[in-house]
Amino acid sequence: MGLRLSYVTVLIPENLAELREASESPDVILLAGGTDLMVSVNHRSRRIGSDATVISLARVPELRSWSHNPASGELVIGGGITWSQLERPPFDSLAPALAQAARTVGSPQIRNAGTIGGNIATASPAGDGLPVLLALGAVVDILGSAGQRSSSLADLLTGPKRTTLAPGEVIVSVRVTETAGWQGYAKIGVRNAMVISVAGVAMVLDGAARKATIALGSVGPTVLLAAEASARLSTEFDWDAWSCSESTIVSVGEMAAAEARPIDDHRSTAEYRRHGVRVLTSRLLKRGIDRR
Ligand SMILES: Cc1cc2nc3c(=O)[nH]c(=O)nc-3n(C[C@H](O)[C@H](O)[C@H](O)COP(=O)(O)OP(=O)(O)OC[C@H]3O[C@@H](n4cnc5c(N)ncnc54)[C@H](O)[C@@H]3O)c2cc1C
Repeated sequence: MGLRLSYVTVLIPENLAELREASESPDVILLAGGTDLMVSVNHRSRRIGSDATVISLARVPELRSWSHNPASGELVIGGGITWSQLERPPFDSLAPALAQAARTVGSPQIRNAGTIGGNIATASPAGDGLPVLLALGAVVDILGSAGQRSSSLADLLTGPKRTTLAPGEVIVSVRVTETAGWQGYAKIGVRNAMVISVAGVAMVLDGAARKATIALGSVGPTVLLAAEASARLSTEFDWDAWSCSESTIVSVGEMAAAEARPIDDHRSTAEYRRHGVRVLTSRLLKRGIDRR
């Protein structure tokens, strides 16, 4: 009886061309920081079979780079940019809500390893980057064996941990546009640190466009835009005086809570999650008025 040894192939491309070639291998598994992937392998919800090809994204410079165009305000964030990078300059001024979300992710070790591309691809409704990116109207640039494509984040996320990404397709970058005004993110969890959110809210008050956008995390099958609350706030906010009435602060919170689609699970009840959205939305709006 012979001994059958099987090996997982690990490829370490060093540029996008090599990455594209590698992604044509059968049974491809992309590995960035590993903070979601290895947890799911350890919990056996994901298997790396003996025929799998693991592609490390760590040495692809294009994924670790970013750019900002001051004229258009466009910020291009490489898929391999980590939370530790995102919480610091220049991201804290170019996309302050994303920096705030970054500071709430896991621990310093998780933030050093975990990437924005991994957060998007995992597509957890509790992913802290996702409500912010949704509120900012993010566009995701994707590379696969069939070539390049772009998708709005809203179209990319199709359900809990489900996306339109085909096997081997890589998130090369995510694009947002700088906004004038104020933006923020806040979440509620069962403790203050190292916590997956039970409700999260991102708010963008875009003074130039005179438009408010509110997005919700952990209260639906995927992150959600609170469209009616956003429209009400856009109309009732006094963009010249940079303020709104107390009744608007309350009613926008209630509207956002009504638009949430939470469930009961091991982390929280649906009722508490809805309450959390109400409180976080009103709190963020007060912060936005105070801290412009
Ligand atoms: C202790 C702990 C605490 C955590 N706390 C938080 C938290 O507070 N908030 C939060 O949002 N998350 C949290 N997470 C989850 C995780 O850290 C983040 O989702 C992180 O951003 C994942 O990125 P990664 O680079 O580690 O992804 P990986 O684990 O490497 O990959 C995750 C998935 O994305 C795919 N992938 C990775 N990069 C790409 C890419 N560029 N293109 C296409 N597919 C890709 C992988 O194939 C895999 O399916 C926590 C995890 C742990 C272990």
